[in-house]
Amino acid sequence: MNTRHDIIIVGAGMAGMTAALALAKGGLDVVMVERMPLTAQVETTYDGRASAIAYSCFRQWQALGVGAALEPLSCRMNEIVVTDAHLPGAATRKPSPFFLHFDAAEISDRSGDEPLGYMIENRHIRAALHEAVVATGIRLITPARVANIEDRPEQVVLTLDTGEVLTAPLVVAAEGRQSPLREHAGIKTIGWDYGQSAVVATVKMEHPHNHVAYEYFLSSGPFAILPLTDNRACLVWSESHAKAKALLTVRPELFHAHLMQRFGDFLGEIELTGPKFIYPLSMALAEDMYRGRIALLGDAAHGIHPIAGQGLNLGLKDAAAFAEVVIEAARLGEDIGAESVLERYAQWRRFENVSTSVIMDGFVHLFSNNNPVVRAARDVGMGVINAIGPARRFFMEDAGGATGDLPKLLRGQSI
Ligand SMILES: Cc1cc2nc3c(=O)[nH]c(=O)nc-3n(C[C@H](O)[C@H](O)[C@H](O)COP(=O)(O)OP(=O)(O)OC[C@H]3O[C@@H](n4cnc5c(N)ncnc54)[C@H](O)[C@@H]3O)c2cc1C
Repeated sequence: MNTRHDIIIVGAGMAGMTAALALAKGGLDVVMVERMPLTAQVETTYDGRASAIAYSCFRQWQALGVGAALEPLSCRMNEIVVTDAHLPGAATRKPSPFFLHFDAAEISDRSGDEPLGYMIENRHIRAALHEAVVATGIRLITPARVANIEDRPEQVVLTLDTGEVLTAPLVVAAEGRQSPLREHAGIKTIGWDYGQSAVVATVKMEHPHNHVAYEYFLSSGPFAILPLTDNRACLVWSESHAKAKALLTVRPELFHAHLMQRFGDFLGEIELTGPKFIYPLSMALAEDMYRGRIALLGDAAHGIHPIAGQGLNLGLKDAAAFAEVVIEAARLGEDIGAESVLERYAQWRRFENVSTSVIMDGFVHLFSNNNPVVRAARDVGMGVINAIGPARRFFMEDAGGATGDLPKLLRGQSI
């Protein structure tokens, strides 16, 4: 089979599917190619993570018609407590006097009673997006990979390993960090391994979490307790690769004992509700956001450390900006894969993607450090930000994705 489309998106992850929905709702003919069937991706054993979704990104899903399916599965994050802690028993100690406390109530006049963000399990996000993709009539070819790429002056021709041939003037690489299309386009990445892995698990707690997220900066890496629906929490426990592997395979009683030592008793008895997962942590920032007729989106453009839960949010913001630029170009009769169009997308997203990657990288080095001088400096820094209302509010609005030149979808409007 040989078919022509406006846009081919390779990679039906959360960023790719969001972009597909936005583009299709703007009247464009989109086809998606995904290596792994979505039914396998929503299994409880596939991805144990939950994502902190900035309120502006959640507005985008509401504007795309996915909000109603996600709302009952989303846990409001009304407060975030960030503190510098020592080992062991991070959570048993009182927060150090130098800590940060963010409260959604402080910005409710501007954010309209939105929380600081929503915690949602990735499998629920994938399922809701997939359902919307199918309902919108977007063709999702899966399981399939790109076997050959031909870059012609006015279009790209992709031959899939199924034998099917797809042609379009614009191709989106949304295949995550190891993007074969990015490699084909010759776009290099800057990055490194952090020597840390995150162990992720879901737990049920005895005492209510009250919609508060906790992040403890330990010298081995951050330890986060992130509230979920049904008084559960997603734990993100960063350790050296070796310790993380040991945590994954340790006997359940021993893991529980370690966990209680980390948690302390402020949330009561803790019960593991599913399997544990491990994610090696690294940074991979692409040197450009497009080349030729191939545009990068999501982790294919910027894979970052999850220290502040910003990776997917950046990808969702890419999706909103990309869709707005491309839909408007199509309405004006422009060639949607032309350099002039893709440069508008890159200009919109480049600064935030690069600056967030650099800032998150700085945080990792600053906080995974036990040097007493560094500790003192960062503690004073946190104390100062915490003491200044406007600084706290800026951080909250920035993390909520509500600052700067926002694409329409992030304001909850359609394109
Ligand atoms: C422990 C941890 C916690 C995190 N927490 C948060 C958080 O709280 N908030 C947040 O914003 N971010 C968070 N992140 C980051 C977030 O998970 C990623 O940024 C996000 O998943 C990237 O989405 P994506 O769609 O760009 O890429 P991916 O999720 O990697 O999706 C890529 C898709 O492409 C497919 N694919 C790959 N190769 C091919 C191919 N050759 N052909 C066809 N298809 C292909 C894959 O199967 C997949 O479906 C966290 C990350 C980690 C590791």
